[in-house]
Amino acid sequence: MNNWKALALNVLKGQQLTNDEALRILHCPDNELLEILQAAYTIRSHYYGNKVKLNMIINTKSGLCPENCGYCAQSSISSAPIQKYRMMDKETILQGAEQAYHLNAGTYCIVASGRGPSDKEVEIVTSAVEEIKEKYGLKVCACLGLLNPTQAKRLKESGVDRYNHNINTSENHHESITTSHTYEDRVNTVELVKNAGISPCSGVIIGMKETKQDVIDMARSLKVLDADSIPVNFLHAIDGTPLQGVNELNPRYCLKVLCLMRFINPSKEIRISGGREVNLRSLQPLGLYPANSIFVGDYLTTAGQETTADHKMLEDLGFEIEFAKEESTA
Ligand code: SF4
Repeated sequence: MNNWKALALNVLKGQQLTNDEALRILHCPDNELLEILQAAYTIRSHYYGNKVKLNMIINTKSGLCPENCGYCAQSSISSAPIQKYRMMDKETILQGAEQAYHLNAGTYCIVASGRGPSDKEVEIVTSAVEEIKEKYGLKVCACLGLLNPTQAKRLKESGVDRYNHNINTSENHHESITTSHTYEDRVNTVELVKNAGISPCSGVIIGMKETKQDVIDMARSLKVLDADSIPVNFLHAIDGTPLQGVNELNPRYCLKVLCLMRFINPSKEIRISGGREVNLRSLQPLGLYPANSIFVGDYLTTAGQETTADHKMLEDLGFEIEFAKEESTA
């Protein structure tokens, strides 16, 4: 048995990685890549078999954000030429749900730009969610920024299953990425949605000039936060943002990061998210050995690959789509 497999079996027995072991994963020699992927797959298949969850995003409000997140095309300091629009109406959000339903996406993610939603925006979302649950039976994840407890309660009552609020990076590196809110603000929102009884989704963006130790710290913070779902984004630097031109990832390193996330958060849903196509490139299918979830369709401000290509990839891998739909009337 190779060392990676032995490490995976220890994780399945409940052992936690030491910092040295975590660093070894990120420094794994390329000629051991298949072995480490197989070890990560041992953990992934223990919890999820060959099932893959599909998520689809709708960007219900774009741009116009007062915050200064360095990776984001929608921020107040970005000059990226993106579409800017205020919160969509309920009908348009419902049309997106219908599309997600037909794409076999188990989770429909309703995302809005901004520091946090107004009560009116929460009302549009909750009214749409009530109808989506009744009509399509999709799981719904909302991602609307920083919340207050009343808003979190209202989202829960409407049927929102999950709330996404990414930590994005390590506590240590946070200030190099944004100064308009704190790392603590982000962690507090994740705790607040947990307290409201909503499943927490929180993830990261890799490739923003962080160190390998930062990546390990992120994985551990998500474990402490007990995030049920962990989106792992790989920076797709957009011209006009402060991180324009940053391109420090390669597909093999991205796979090692996904393996690390799986070793540290063995039973959690790990989703390969934004930047999958440009950073993993031809190695995308291998990402599904450590991860068990992907986005289909477009991202917030960048295009994804054709959904038929994603379905074909899953079929070629012999993986199955996990349907999360409940009984529906669609
Ligand atoms: S990531 Fe969210 S909060 Fe930050 S600038 Fe973009 S839309 Fe605003």
